[in-house]
Amino acid sequence: MKAVVIEAFGPPQNLRLRDFPTPRPGRQDILVKVEAAGVCHHDVLHRAGKLPGAKAGIVPGHETAGEVIAVGPEVTTHVIGDRVVIYQRRFCGQCRNCLRGRQDMCRALGAPAVDTEGGYAEFVCVPANMGIKIPAGVDWEGAALSCCPIGTSLRALKAVAGVNPGDSVLINGASGGLGVHQIQIARALGGIPIAVTTNPAKVEFLKSLGAENVIAVPDLAYAAEVWRLTGKRGVDIAIDNLGATLPETLRCMTQGGIVVVLGNVSGEPVPVSPGLLIGRRLRISGSGMATLEDVQQSLAMLQAGMVKPIISATVKFSEAAQAHTMLEARAVEGRVMMRGW
Ligand SMILES: [Zn+2]
Ligand SMILES: [Zn+2]
Repeated sequence: MKAVVIEAFGPPQNLRLRDFPTPRPGRQDILVKVEAAGVCHHDVLHRAGKLPGAKAGIVPGHETAGEVIAVGPEVTTHVIGDRVVIYQRRFCGQCRNCLRGRQDMCRALGAPAVDTEGGYAEFVCVPANMGIKIPAGVDWEGAALSCCPIGTSLRALKAVAGVNPGDSVLINGASGGLGVHQIQIARALGGIPIAVTTNPAKVEFLKSLGAENVIAVPDLAYAAEVWRLTGKRGVDIAIDNLGATLPETLRCMTQGGIVVVLGNVSGEPVPVSPGLLIGRRLRISGSGMATLEDVQQSLAMLQAGMVKPIISATVKFSEAAQAHTMLEARAVEGRVMMRGW
């Protein structure tokens, strides 16, 4: 089979098209013919060698949807022809975190796309419990994004922040792959999204997704405008997709507000004022990938039309290097998708 491998850490050109033996499903595995794969900023960091613990020499990709074309002899849950999205991490199903529905925190097994084979391939072989069935009416592209970035965003907004109708929700990095879906999800949950972008050309696009207000600030100094827009009250919830902006985001919060940190773009530590946390009774929570239940709910939202996948470009798998170049140049709104060879 054909697959795109990170030959060595470095520039996009280090993504190389290679031939591999097509994997054979083990007793409890499904073999999936990949129909669509999203290109995530995480993949770009991996290829550049900026992910702690990640290895080169592997096939990246954790936003994968496709059709089951073979099943192992012990598989009772799937049949050939099933349409599935592949959960982005292997999980044991037995540990304390798995038993309470937090497959995202299972540390028993490796993570696809970091430790084993990913979705930039013609076929992917995974344990059957990683194949989440796609409901009718959800296309391959939407399904591929239902785990990351849509599921990641739903976890942050619903499970962690608990958005309620009427809550103001600040979202920075708003035109990226996470932000464009967070605006829609926050709106679908009854929240009132305030989007932050560095690019004034994105204002109308972000409003079209459901942003009540868009703050376009090249220097990312947005707190004063948030204060003005909320009548000096501050926002109830903030999703920080950048990380380095956390001190600015904290200044935007109302009493009892919740900040969810999803991004760590620069990787540098930031100062946090304990007095601000105490005085405003703020909560800061990290969040990450979706649980199985979050993915199911994301698929249901896609099926109901409550969120639509935002895809700015579709390239062939053999053009993966071009997709990475586009992401690095920040030349995309939402996701770049790969389909066909
Ligand atoms: Zn992703
Ligand atoms: Zn586990």
